[in-house]
Amino acid sequence: MLERADLPERVEIKDVSPRDGLQFEPNVVSVDDRVHLVDSLTAAGVPHIEVTSFVSPKWLPQMGDAETVMTRIERKPGVTYAALVPNPKGAERALAAKPDELMVFVSASETHNYKNVHCSVSESLGGFHRICEMARGEAVPVTAVIVTAFGCPYEGRVPIHAVLDLAVRLESMGIADITLGDTVGVANPLQVAEMVKAFRLNASMVRVGLHFHDNRGTALTNLLAGVISGCTRFETALGGIGGSPFSPGAGGNLATEDAVYCLQEMGIKTGIDLDRLMEASRFLEKIVGHPVPSRVYRSGGRMVPAGYGGSARE
Ligand code: ZN
Repeated sequence: MLERADLPERVEIKDVSPRDGLQFEPNVVSVDDRVHLVDSLTAAGVPHIEVTSFVSPKWLPQMGDAETVMTRIERKPGVTYAALVPNPKGAERALAAKPDELMVFVSASETHNYKNVHCSVSESLGGFHRICEMARGEAVPVTAVIVTAFGCPYEGRVPIHAVLDLAVRLESMGIADITLGDTVGVANPLQVAEMVKAFRLNASMVRVGLHFHDNRGTALTNLLAGVISGCTRFETALGGIGGSPFSPGAGGNLATEDAVYCLQEMGIKTGIDLDRLMEASRFLEKIVGHPVPSRVYRSGGRMVPAGYGGSARE
């Protein structure tokens, strides 16, 4: 039975729409609009934002001018502005733009890693060693995302021990903040609960975050399973946009609006103002040029006065 006493006081939402979201958009969004999107998320109270990625613009024109975006955003004290880097060369560019955090990524399955970044998992980890060294020199923390952690489009279900082993290898090089990504939206709530528990029992030094895609409509239930299991860090994307151009059939991220609505209605604080978040969604819809999939954005927030029925709002 779900009881309020079993739920955390607060969870941290990291919005990944400016990177994970826009990267998948067929149209290239201008630098001005990308900067404004990040600033709108800051204004809504989002505490952690994945601003951009320092990949080669040849591969991803959507992430071009990453330096300009990173330097032009308005930084609010207390908010973490993260940059994703695929390799040491990207890390060098990123560090010059002074991010608060560098993010690296690796697949839980060899086949997906090859398809995604054209090298083995061990080769990816080799690059992370160098990135960690560079980041340490600038006192910038490095965090990691393990993609396809719950299932791979090529290899199927990924065993929990494989994800744990990879996380332990990352932790041994100083990367203790690790997000588990359901890149193709195949996870189910029981699997999520088992994964979080396995980390608590076998790799308690790792701070686990969760990142769900909604291809099969399970993202919000997976978030709830994560919360009940004791996870308090989640990555979501404004509007529910995003996916991966390299993962066949990948769908949108869990929408930040949907996550925030659900959490706050249960009395769990996120520090995010839902009305201001919806203003950001309106702007997002304009710049991507198509309707965004977020249900809460479409339906609106709470329709009845606070205190009626559900739990207290923040
Ligand atoms: Zn994603």
